[in-house]
Amino acid sequence: MTERLRRPLFLAVATALAALVFWIDSIAEYESSVAILYLAVLVLVSAAGNGKEVTRAAQGCVALAVLAWVVVHLDSPTPASVLRCLFACIAIGVTAALLVSRKRLEATQRDLERSRAEVDLFANSVPYVLWRSNPRGEIEYLNASWTTVTGLDRLTVLEGQRYNDVVHPDDIPVLNETVSAAVANRTVTNLKVRIRQADGSYRWMQIYDNPAYSPLTDQVERFGGLSDVHDEVVAKQQLQLVRDELEISRTDLVNFTDSVPQILWRADPEGRIDFYNRRYTEITGRDVQATIERQDHADDIHPDDRERFSQVWRDAIFGRTEMRATYRLRHATGEYRWMSLVGRPIRLGETPDEIRYYGGVSDIHDEVTSHQKVKELNETLEQRVAERTSELMLTEQRYAGLFDVSNMTFAEMDFSEAEKMLDAIKDRGVTDLRAYMAANPDELARTLGAIRTTRVNEALARLMGYESVADLVANPPTQNAEDGAEVLLRQLEMYFHGIHHIDGRTVLVGKAGRRIPVYFTVTRLSDGLHLSSHLDLSEQERIEQMRQAAQAEMARANRIATVGAFSASIAHELNQPITSMVFDARTGIRMIAREAPDIEGVDRILQRMEKNAQRVAGIVQRTRENLVGRRRAVGATDLHRLALETRDLIDHDLKRADVELDVVCAKTVPAIMGDPVELQQVFVNLVNNAIDAMRDQHGARRVTIELIAKDTSVEVRVSDTGPGIPEEFIQKLFEPFFTTKATGIGMGLEICRSAVAAMGGQLTVANLPQGGARFAFDLPFAVERRA
Ligand code: ADP
Repeated sequence: MTERLRRPLFLAVATALAALVFWIDSIAEYESSVAILYLAVLVLVSAAGNGKEVTRAAQGCVALAVLAWVVVHLDSPTPASVLRCLFACIAIGVTAALLVSRKRLEATQRDLERSRAEVDLFANSVPYVLWRSNPRGEIEYLNASWTTVTGLDRLTVLEGQRYNDVVHPDDIPVLNETVSAAVANRTVTNLKVRIRQADGSYRWMQIYDNPAYSPLTDQVERFGGLSDVHDEVVAKQQLQLVRDELEISRTDLVNFTDSVPQILWRADPEGRIDFYNRRYTEITGRDVQATIERQDHADDIHPDDRERFSQVWRDAIFGRTEMRATYRLRHATGEYRWMSLVGRPIRLGETPDEIRYYGGVSDIHDEVTSHQKVKELNETLEQRVAERTSELMLTEQRYAGLFDVSNMTFAEMDFSEAEKMLDAIKDRGVTDLRAYMAANPDELARTLGAIRTTRVNEALARLMGYESVADLVANPPTQNAEDGAEVLLRQLEMYFHGIHHIDGRTVLVGKAGRRIPVYFTVTRLSDGLHLSSHLDLSEQERIEQMRQAAQAEMARANRIATVGAFSASIAHELNQPITSMVFDARTGIRMIAREAPDIEGVDRILQRMEKNAQRVAGIVQRTRENLVGRRRAVGATDLHRLALETRDLIDHDLKRADVELDVVCAKTVPAIMGDPVELQQVFVNLVNNAIDAMRDQHGARRVTIELIAKDTSVEVRVSDTGPGIPEEFIQKLFEPFFTTKATGIGMGLEICRSAVAAMGGQLTVANLPQGGARFAFDLPFAVERRA
């Protein structure tokens, strides 16, 4: 039965039943409560109708029950009938009330069911994942979107509490931390994490989980949800990326603009500058911000250029055109420098006002000033060139005249071909041309062969005996001088080493082998031309030869003149040995004349006489050699032995003068290089001088010959205990013929000095602090002494 039929049917049956009960109750006088049957009417109405209808039916039933009592019992009312009627009415009322209340409960239940269904529908229809969790944070409810988003069955996830499985591993620590803190503190969780989607990809989702008090559970439960914010997060990340890149580019741009050596600027459509790079401050010393605020950059422009600059600026801004200006800008140092400004309008958008001027200012001071200088120089140069050209023309005329008619000799040679060959040699890395040419004679010959005589003057041709200049020009240049190749090589070196001038002596070889000694000079001209001139030295050389002959003659005369002096010195030198020999001869004669002749003594005397005779012979020989200028017998000489021999020779003189001669020689001295005869004569002279000096002296008369070996020489010292040399005589002592003796000649020390000098030593004299004089000289070892 359909709902539509059921209701009228039930209501009709209820009405019929009510009428039937009323009829029975009003006509039958039963001692029972028929009216109770009205309850069935109410049940029927309740089954088909609503609460109001039940209430009305109850009211009707009560009215019918009362009406039936009135009909039946009004005439003879009994308490029992009244009570029955009353009970029946109460029962109807209570039943109706129960039925109405049940109706209401049913309606409430239905409403509740509908609400729950609606909530569920709502929760599952939104595109967000929603959940409810208990106070411990464990999720107890998940909506259907969970499955849609993650692809996982929500009931399974809820059972295992595995909802964190879908969170990106990198976000789990922060999620756990945030959720734990929110649960513990009962605060809101608001966090973005990556959630694995049904397709396996991760998307950024926002968790919003709010604690709320539930009256049902009387606890603080948490209600939360997940919303997809992936696009927003990604967009934000991309935005940040773009921002970062923008910041980097901005920094780059600033760095770039700051690094250029020019001032860079930007201006708005009205020509107001709103950007300067750092160079502006470096150049002008001005603060960029302050200048931009005040817009007073034109103050730094030179007063003479300011108006012109402003005009250019205004015109460009007005016409939206490019601007170019050259002006002087005051720098931080106070100096004005020429600058060049260029600016261009750049359109940024559609409207005419969307325009910016971008420009730069560069320093062109050096360019401008050098341009000015070049201009000035050009003017000066042009003037000079004009002057010089006229001067040169005059000079050229003079030079040509000089070349041709002068008595000076000139030759002009062309080295240009040879210079090319030298360039090639240089390119091969040659630095020492002379050594290279010595090693490559063929190449030298080729290079010399490339040299041409281009011009000679008549004076030179005349000097060299040629009748015409052409004959000389035709001659190969190397053949024009005895050392022609050498002179030309020197000229090649001039080019090779960048020398402009050389000079020297050579002998020109003229016609028929004629020799002309000359002093020459060579000057390198432009275009590989060499100009040489020559000074005839024939006359000078003749004079020189004469001078040398005169000198030789003078030397001979000198030698002859010195013979006299030598004779005197010979007399001086021979005097002593001859006197000694005479003395010895007399002693010998006396020894032989004795009754018992002292043969041994005679023998000794004769030996000494022989030595003295040899010495005389030696002196004579040396003197002869001196006169003819021949070298003497120089050889290794044992000085110690020589000194002892000398002592022996002059023993007689020593004894007669009561002088003691010590020969002191610490260790064996090496042989020296010298002439023994001359050295002995030096010893004899020095010792005799000492004897003479001490002759009138009281007290000790001692002469000491010391021989001291040094590194490469032996020092000989002859000291005495005499009066020494007066200071004023010390300088003159070695001069020839200086003597303080009545019978002296003054040649002894001069002979000693020159003899020692000839052997490589130097004779010196000094007074000793304790008195007496010391003569000393060094003589080199005969053989290099080894350490
Ligand atoms: P001469 O012996 O003929 O005078 P010398 O040339 O040998 O010529 O000596 C020159 C002078 O040097 C001597 O006259 C003497 O005055 C001085 N003279 C040389 N040796 C000594 C000496 N040992 N002490 C002092 N005077 C000296």
